[in-house]
Amino acid sequence: MSRKKQNVRLSNFILQLGPGAIVETPGGPRIVLSTDTGLFQGEVNPHELEVEVPYLSTDPDPKTPPAAFLLPPEVTWRTRPFPVWKLCTEHWILHARGCPKCTHEGRAGSREQAIRFVMACPAGHLDEVNWSRLVHGRSWPHGEVQEHYLWKPRGPRLAQTYAACPVCGKEAPLSKAYYGEHECTGRFPENEEPGAGPGRPRDCNQKMRMIQRQAVNLRIPEVQTFLTVPPMEAGEYRMLQLEREKLEFALDLAELYDRTEGKLSVTRSHGRPAPEPGEGEKLRKVFEKFLDDVESRRRGWDLEGLRKLTEDPVALAGTIERVLRYRRPSSPQEAWQNEFLELMRGVDEGIPPLRRKRGTRAGTTTLIEMDPSEVRRGIPGPGGVRLVVAPVQRLHTVTVQIGYRRAVGSTGDPSGVVGTLVDTGAVWPPGTSGAKRWYPAYESLGEGLFITADEDLKFQNPRWMKWMKLYKEALQKSGNVLDQDVYRFHPAFVWWHTFSHLLLRVLAVDSGYSLASISERIYLDFDALRKHPEHVRGAILLYTTSSGADGTLGGLIALTDKIESLIEKAMAGAEVCSSDPLCWENEFHYESPIGAACYACLLVSETSCRHRNLWLDRRILLEN
Ligand SMILES: [Zn+2]
Ligand SMILES: [Zn+2]
Ligand SMILES: [Zn+2]
Ligand SMILES: [Zn+2]
Ligand SMILES: [Zn+2]
Repeated sequence: MSRKKQNVRLSNFILQLGPGAIVETPGGPRIVLSTDTGLFQGEVNPHELEVEVPYLSTDPDPKTPPAAFLLPPEVTWRTRPFPVWKLCTEHWILHARGCPKCTHEGRAGSREQAIRFVMACPAGHLDEVNWSRLVHGRSWPHGEVQEHYLWKPRGPRLAQTYAACPVCGKEAPLSKAYYGEHECTGRFPENEEPGAGPGRPRDCNQKMRMIQRQAVNLRIPEVQTFLTVPPMEAGEYRMLQLEREKLEFALDLAELYDRTEGKLSVTRSHGRPAPEPGEGEKLRKVFEKFLDDVESRRRGWDLEGLRKLTEDPVALAGTIERVLRYRRPSSPQEAWQNEFLELMRGVDEGIPPLRRKRGTRAGTTTLIEMDPSEVRRGIPGPGGVRLVVAPVQRLHTVTVQIGYRRAVGSTGDPSGVVGTLVDTGAVWPPGTSGAKRWYPAYESLGEGLFITADEDLKFQNPRWMKWMKLYKEALQKSGNVLDQDVYRFHPAFVWWHTFSHLLLRVLAVDSGYSLASISERIYLDFDALRKHPEHVRGAILLYTTSSGADGTLGGLIALTDKIESLIEKAMAGAEVCSSDPLCWENEFHYESPIGAACYACLLVSETSCRHRNLWLDRRILLEN
């Protein structure tokens, strides 16, 4: 058996491989072993490689929150041969341990081909095709260990390809296995120790199906990408979080706080607090008294930075409101909301460079930076909406793989998600109980364009109303505003998502990046959505990252200056599609949430769209 290594880029490993994936190597297909068996039993200690992420939606109620670690560049992740059944194309013999005729002739393995098929169930189990079951049915006429069968191709179709028993001559076409359902063996080959035999507990009530080992739906990785935003739980902000109730109480008492809206009761401009001199003075007094109180009770905190804030009432009000609005994420949507709020703040106030030391190397890495003087306002957008375009000079993302699904068979789930999530985290040291679970990640640096509007979106056109109707139905079914299978039906989401795709397609032409390397993030203000379902602020972030130390080229942010002409081009792209009138007349519904959109006008590659190219509709932008 070959012990050769195959080099894989970290990003490819996280995005496409991971535990339970089958990799093709010159020595045949191999399965990537679990995080525990494949990695942690080697030299890797995730504690030394931890990377901060706001929230991982793995275990719904973990006692110890899960964590992510950066895969080191020179790491070896172990694999083992899978599937082991092969076909000798000289003798047409299907075998698990070498073709008997070739072995007899003394030239093992010269003309063999790994078998194309495996068996998998939607709960994530994976196994070899059971050739004995296919040929003999439920009986084992020649004992359990029958290590080869004859392969009889009588035509190109599965129904014409037979597997036959060399002992009794019984045979069956492959189509019998391919189109049937089979009892699940409950096997997770990635969890088996190297050298150990297959574990088949047969404790699964799902059905296995035969599937090609290279089929994309055999293993769909579940990854989460986070944008690093300024920390709300570090340094002096940590103190404000700890003392938040006292701060709220003091503000409430001074009638400066609107508890139901969760914001300061002061004069506002563009939705942001902009206290008049009298209000500013009142706020300053309340905050100074609060700091004095904290200082008398808590020692060891450096409050100098916070005291300095009182010199600028607008900055002070902004900081206080950030603290009041911040919620420690308890779902991916809340982590998402924090990202949105930080970027919105960046539009108005900028985000000073957030730096991190570069490990053992000299210098620092800038994780995020937004310069408020580069922000452009009043840019004409679709439907008369006035857009705000803000370049994000530097950004940093962390992408974590938390598991995978085997999308075999069908579950009839309207969200289109087939297969149970198989969690691929592992504890460290291996075998510890109750410890936190670790998930592999990679990081990237890049740049982006953050685009929002000066106002909430609210239209009355029939297309908008139809999406709104679907949104309300979805909300009624789920009851949860933050459920992505609910909010993605919101017309404001469809509006921003469609606009994002139109822009992606023109940006790729002008920025020098390929379309597949630009990603999108679609934001809706969830706080607002909870209060007013009808109209809501939203935004998009179009960004590009690379895992090199220096990030990307600056080609995307350079487009800020000519954004008007790019938007015009994008909107021209929305008006006509070469597939019209078919594309234009495509009707959407709950099970198929895609309106006027097709590959000719709106769809982008799977790597750029995190919403599966659904919830798109050109007409929502045009019928205003
Ligand atoms: Zn042979
Ligand atoms: Zn037989
Ligand atoms: Zn199963
Ligand atoms: Zn089209
Ligand atoms: Zn998309």
